[in-house]
Amino acid sequence: MSTPDTSMHLDGALYIDGAWVAAVAGDSREVINPSDGSALQRIDEGSAADALAAVAAARKAFDHGPWPTTSATERSALLFKVADLLGRNRSRIAMVETLDTGKTLTESGIDVDDVAAVFRYYAALAVGDPGRLVDAGNPAVLSRVVYEPVGVCALIGPWNYPLLQMSWKVAPALAAGNTVVLKPSEVTPLSTLILVELLVEAGIPAGVVNLVLGSGPAVGAPMVQSKDVDLVSFTGGLATGRAIMRSAAETVKKVALELGGKNPNIVFADADLDAALDAALTGVFLHAGQVCSAGTRLLLHSSIHDEFVAELARRAELITIGSGLDEATEMPPLVSAAHRAKVEGYVALGLSEGARLLCGGQRPKDAHLQDGFYYSPTVFVDCHRGMRIVQEETFGPIVTVERFETEDEAVMLGNDTDYGLAGGVWTADRAKAHRVAGRLRHGTVWINDFGPYLPQAEWGGFKLSGSGRELGPAGLAEYREAKHVYENTAPAAQYWFSGARPADS
Ligand code: NAP
Repeated sequence: MSTPDTSMHLDGALYIDGAWVAAVAGDSREVINPSDGSALQRIDEGSAADALAAVAAARKAFDHGPWPTTSATERSALLFKVADLLGRNRSRIAMVETLDTGKTLTESGIDVDDVAAVFRYYAALAVGDPGRLVDAGNPAVLSRVVYEPVGVCALIGPWNYPLLQMSWKVAPALAAGNTVVLKPSEVTPLSTLILVELLVEAGIPAGVVNLVLGSGPAVGAPMVQSKDVDLVSFTGGLATGRAIMRSAAETVKKVALELGGKNPNIVFADADLDAALDAALTGVFLHAGQVCSAGTRLLLHSSIHDEFVAELARRAELITIGSGLDEATEMPPLVSAAHRAKVEGYVALGLSEGARLLCGGQRPKDAHLQDGFYYSPTVFVDCHRGMRIVQEETFGPIVTVERFETEDEAVMLGNDTDYGLAGGVWTADRAKAHRVAGRLRHGTVWINDFGPYLPQAEWGGFKLSGSGRELGPAGLAEYREAKHVYENTAPAAQYWFSGARPADS
């Protein structure tokens, strides 16, 4: 393999009030390459002081800067410029994302394209909504509802799709006229550094976009607690989401949460089984299963179960595991040693609960994979709804398989989770497909597909998968306050209180 161009030229600093700055305490940390465990880049490690400085800069820019009152057309133009810059920097960003997260270069490139599409979508949407006139029932009254930015937004992202998930927040937040503080995961912060570079290059005014680096408890928590932050948008795990919601209650700030999922993939006997099998594989093994909407809970009609799982395991064993930089790689490593240990814990749990391993359940033995955090595609059968391996988000390349007999049972099992992020249904019977889709309590339902999302369509979770929506018009509405402006064009005293009435009236 030729040596890839990994010259990312990142400062690894924080970006506060229009300047790249070192962390106040002078701390730093190494970012690790999951494909071989090597140190990739040393970056600054912020603390509460840095987080609060970033919040103060965003507050100042919101209260006194031009951005919130800049015309929607100008904000839109800047977002289009960012989309163009993303396109121009595609290969560099994809390389950085692959080195940092481990995912394949192909997938990282697709992420960059998707991120640019999200910026374009919100650039266009920013100018389309001047508010609305309301009929007040009185011709002398002019009543308008207008939309204003919420204020200072703390945007906290996860490690699995660092750039993509951050873009779902940054683009609508800026389109709406907010100022923001970005807090990427300490595990995969590098592509967010480039995003900030590009926003600066596009001409974002000082203080409008700020970046803090550091751990969640050290820099994320103070942002959530700060009374100067008006909104927190968080993507990550359930436990952190709960902690954020509790903490934000003190200042009654707006909170949008995109949390985990345990996503059913239901296959009826009349489905196109080759397509369903293919999607069952990518649904769970893409990015080594580190996908919030991964189809980790496969529900098969009894009549196709045995044949389907045998072929699933056969194909899973053929998946080429390796570095995301290797063109032959189909499944990359897990993001960290700690995360692999968690996944291994779930495999041990599944075995102890009586699930039967069809394939995987171990680290690959290949000599060249020993330094990275690799794990083999794992298929468990003989699973049932009472098992924790079936109910909890494993966030790794593990699929559990259950059987069903009837449509009602498929729906019951599909909804048999505290989460409600996404699900799939496979059948040639369109009426049945739409019946089942209508009964599934998940924020996205795919029919005869698994995984696609669109910038134009809302994304988010029912139940414990979160609150609020990203993408689509609702993704912009999260970052807006509605204000009712009521104008009486012919004011006249009403004399509600008799004592206020002039003596001669
Ligand atoms: P996580 O551990 O909850 O961390 C998410 C972010 O929160 C990180 O930036 C983390 O910082 C920060 N954080 C941690 N503690 C915090 C605190 N007390 N206050 C404020 N921020 C804090 O989640 P993750 O492991 O990165 O991500 C995986 C999870 O994200 C999975 O459950 C997955 O399903 C979910 N996810 C959901 C979606 C969706 O669209 N619904 C999309 C992607 C991922 P540090 O990491 O730097 O400590």
